Amino acid sequence: MVSGSSIIFDRLDFSSIFDKISSASILGVQIPDGLKFYAIDIANFLRERGFEVIFSGKATYGACDIDMELLREVDFLLHFAHTEMVNIDRVIYVPYRIEYDVDVELLKENLLERKIALIGTASYSWKFEKIRSALEKEGFEVELREGTGVEYPGQVLGCNYSCLKNTESKAVLFVGDGEFHPIGASLYSRKRVYAYSPLSNEIKEVNAEEFLKRRYLAVSKAMNCESFGILVSTKIGQKRLELAKELQRIALERGKTAEIILTDEINPSVTDNFRFDAHVNTACPRVTFDDYSRFGGKIISPMEFKIALGVEDFDRYSFEFSQ
Ligand code: SF4
Repeated sequence: MVSGSSIIFDRLDFSSIFDKISSASILGVQIPDGLKFYAIDIANFLRERGFEVIFSGKATYGACDIDMELLREVDFLLHFAHTEMVNIDRVIYVPYRIEYDVDVELLKENLLERKIALIGTASYSWKFEKIRSALEKEGFEVELREGTGVEYPGQVLGCNYSCLKNTESKAVLFVGDGEFHPIGASLYSRKRVYAYSPLSNEIKEVNAEEFLKRRYLAVSKAMNCESFGILVSTKIGQKRLELAKELQRIALERGKTAEIILTDEINPSVTDNFRFDAHVNTACPRVTFDDYSRFGGKIISPMEFKIALGVEDFDRYSFEFSQ
C-alpha cells in the first residue's frame, strides 16, 4: 500500500456496499480526481474480495456526473465520495466521511448570532445531528433542514442550497472547506454566512461582494454581445435542455442569435471553434465561475444571461439550479 492509503479507507464507508454487490464479478469504479491517487489501493482492496475492476477516466465532478458508458460494461458502478442525486439502477454510492469535531468555544466567540442554520457538503453533513446537539448544549438554536436531491439534512451542493429555503435562522454556519459553497449559500439565503473548517479550526465571515462585482462585470460585457452558444451537458445530473430552449427563445425574441450546443465536457476546446460572442453554461455552475478566465471571460450562467437580456434582476442573483 502507498502512503496515506489508511486515511482513504478510514474515510470511505464500505458498510452496506458488499451486500448489494454480492452477485457481481466486474465492478466499475468512478472516483473524483482528488482521490485517483488511491486507485491502486482501491483496486487491490476490491480484487482481494474477488471482483474485477475497471476505472472511469472521467473527471467526475459530483453525483451529477455518472459514467453511463462504463456502467454498460460492468455489473455495478461504484461511485465514490458523493451521495445520490439521480437514482440509477446498478449505481452504488460510496460515501466519503471526514471524522471531525467542532470547537464550540471558537464558534461562540466568533458568531454574532445564536439562531443559526447548519450546512455543509456531504463529507461533513453526515455528522450534523451530533454537531447540532453539541451546539445546542452551548446555547445555540440550530436549524437543520432537509433539502431536495441530497441525502443528509443540511447538505448543500454547489448548485443546490434548498435546505436553506425559507430559513428562519439569523445566520448560516457552513462546515467544510473552500469558499464556493459559502458564497452560494450567502447569495441564496441573503443571510450572514460563516465558513468554518474543522480541519484547520479556522472560521471567517464570507463576503460575496467581490464575487458579485466580478459577475456584474461579466453580465455587463454580455449585454453588448449579439450571438450566444448555449451549452448543455449530457451529464445525467447537469442536463438542462428545456432551460436551454427557454434561453434560446428569450434571446431570439430580443433579436439575438442563439444556438444550443450539446456536449459532455464543457471546456474551451468545445467553445473555441464556434464563433459566438459569448457562451451560456446551463451545466455545472462551477465551470462558469472557476474557469471564467480559461474561457476568455466569455461565459455566463443562465441567470446572468437573463439579467443581460433584461428579464431577470441582479438583486436576485443566485447560482442554485432551481432558480
Ligand atoms: S455543483 Fe456542479 S459538480 Fe456539484 S453537483 Fe452541482 S452540477 Fe454537479
